[in-house]
Amino acid sequence: MFKTIKKVWRYISKYKKLLVISISTMLIVQLLNLASPLIVKAIMDDYLVAIEKPWYETEVTVDSKDAVSFNGKYYIQNTVSDSGATIVIYKASYYFIEDLVPSDFVKGNKTINDGKITFTNQEGSVLVFDAVKLTSKETRNFYEPFINPLTVLLILLALRLFLQIIFTYIQRITTASINVNIVRDARVDAVTSLQQLPMSYFEEEPAGKIANRIIHDVGGMMGLFSTIMNLMLNASLSIIFAYVGMFYLDPKLAIWTFIIFPLVYFWLKLFVRNLNLIAVKVNEQRSLITANLNEIINGIGILQVFNYEEETTSNFNALSKSYMNEQLKENKLHLGLGWNMIRLIGSLVTSFVVLYFGNGYLTIVGFTVTAGTIYAYNTYLSAIFEPVGILFREIGNLQHSLVRTERIFKLIDGDKESSEKYDIAPYQGNIKFDDVWFSYVKGHPVLKGVSFEIKANSMVGIVGHTGSGKSTLMNLLLRFYDLKDIDRGNIFIDDKDITTESIRSYRKHIGIILQDPVMFSGTLYDNVKFGSNITKEEAIKIVKSVGGANLLDKLEHGIDEPINRKGSNLSIGERQIISFARVIAHDPRILIMDEATANIDTETETIIQNALDKVKKNRTVIIIAHRLSTIKNANKIIVLEKGLKVEEGNHEELVARDGVYANIYRSQVKK
Ligand code: ATP
Ligand code: MG
Repeated sequence: MFKTIKKVWRYISKYKKLLVISISTMLIVQLLNLASPLIVKAIMDDYLVAIEKPWYETEVTVDSKDAVSFNGKYYIQNTVSDSGATIVIYKASYYFIEDLVPSDFVKGNKTINDGKITFTNQEGSVLVFDAVKLTSKETRNFYEPFINPLTVLLILLALRLFLQIIFTYIQRITTASINVNIVRDARVDAVTSLQQLPMSYFEEEPAGKIANRIIHDVGGMMGLFSTIMNLMLNASLSIIFAYVGMFYLDPKLAIWTFIIFPLVYFWLKLFVRNLNLIAVKVNEQRSLITANLNEIINGIGILQVFNYEEETTSNFNALSKSYMNEQLKENKLHLGLGWNMIRLIGSLVTSFVVLYFGNGYLTIVGFTVTAGTIYAYNTYLSAIFEPVGILFREIGNLQHSLVRTERIFKLIDGDKESSEKYDIAPYQGNIKFDDVWFSYVKGHPVLKGVSFEIKANSMVGIVGHTGSGKSTLMNLLLRFYDLKDIDRGNIFIDDKDITTESIRSYRKHIGIILQDPVMFSGTLYDNVKFGSNITKEEAIKIVKSVGGANLLDKLEHGIDEPINRKGSNLSIGERQIISFARVIAHDPRILIMDEATANIDTETETIIQNALDKVKKNRTVIIIAHRLSTIKNANKIIVLEKGLKVEEGNHEELVARDGVYANIYRSQVKK
């Protein structure tokens, strides 16, 4: 986990300023949270109920605002004297007693009968006094001295709230902008790294999954950062400050509350274990559903033709149901063992605190517990329990985030091909395969000792049944795969082993035209230019030279015609023309063409034939041919069969030989 966090830190550390702002505002908000219960406690204890504290008789010499006049005498709280009076609150009324009643009696039991008040203290001693009920105006007079400080406290309370809103806003906004920034950076890195990953990565991971990873898994990083900020930092601060407050109010009880932590720890462990068990199942069900959906969407045409819709729907429904059931289990766990349980523990501890204070108040002499203390303590306790509750609620997400973050870093930090790029002199174009053995999967060789030579500037056809290893041969030449330890043999260009140069520099000299030419969204010009530095005029010339004059006339915007992703607004032949033009723009010494398996019409065939004649000048051209007409004029034809080179020669020689090639040829001519 810490490794992953360290990796995320790489991204966060770019935004240290924002982070400092975020953390300091978080600190301020927590300080304000610490202050709030203390202010409320002061309001409650020192001012609202302080009227029950002793009132001492005083001479009014100065016109003191703190003195209150009653029945011709003056009373004050902050100057001690021998005689005085007491006010007690009893059943929401205020009673005046013209005597100083000891505080343990004031806090004790009271009963009032016929203007007599009876106090019973903790030890059972009884005192009786005369009591006069105060009118509301008189009561207000006694509260007069408190009004000003009370106003100040209330303003403080409001100010605290105001500051808290502002600082919370700043804190959230900075955290969010860090989040947005790191996600953007990570996505860019992921896409950059994606283009340098070896082909084998794409074999293992389907394209949809990779896209998903870049879009969603990066979100995991965001989740991780938010969780670290909220859960770890904010929660720790919240708990620490709550303890500061609690130790200030009552250290003994504060120590007692530490009991909850081992309890919570073991509870959390149990919870996470159960959660993991269910999470695995939920994930499994989710993949099953995704796989099923993929099947449905990919095979939609077939499903409709064969009227298989009903079965498909009921299959999907069954999967959905079991997915739902697992999810429901997850929710039940959260409700049963998680958040609710913590709330229960929280209330138990709160009850314990009230009991404790009630008890302390009864037994410890001179110890006065006030409503304010209990209120403040309770507030601090919830400041401890709330983050713990959130921890339970978020722990599942945290794990998801971790897994997703690890996955995205597997992509970002994956084994990249060297991106080293330097200029190497153009090859002459002599190619040599020397006893090449190659397997994608260990123990299943796909090429079994293939050797051949291709002379510079010649045109060579590669022929063989499906699965015979033709594309594999070219994958090796293009270095989508390099020969590994388990393989054997070497591939040379101009007598130099191809693995001696960096992949990027090497590939600059090799061009490829795929079975289904790849188009990118952009204009026709962009698609021809594609990283080279030809001008528009040159591009037009090139397109015309490979037989695209008609195409340019047809398109409304000519060379500036926008092209869809995948080039779906172009025919296969047109796309072929563009990819031929692309090859000429890049001018590689070696060109590989993997011909379309699908039957194409004669018109397209002529287009390709003409383009090929143009392109093959001054280039070594290798064509993986399915229609032998394309390579009839090739200088040499290599025939593969189950990973072995079985024949080699030109068309006439091979037909005369009456072997594999002649067979394939006859089967095509018959058609
Ligand atoms: P086609 O004419 O159908 O294009 P091909 O001659 O190009 O066939 P290859 O694509 O080279 O055939 O495949 C040769 C063998 O290697 C096949 O048996 C195929 O199943 C296997 N193969 C191809 N690619 C992989 C891969 N990425 N991982 C494992 N096996 C593979
Ligand atoms: Mg192939």
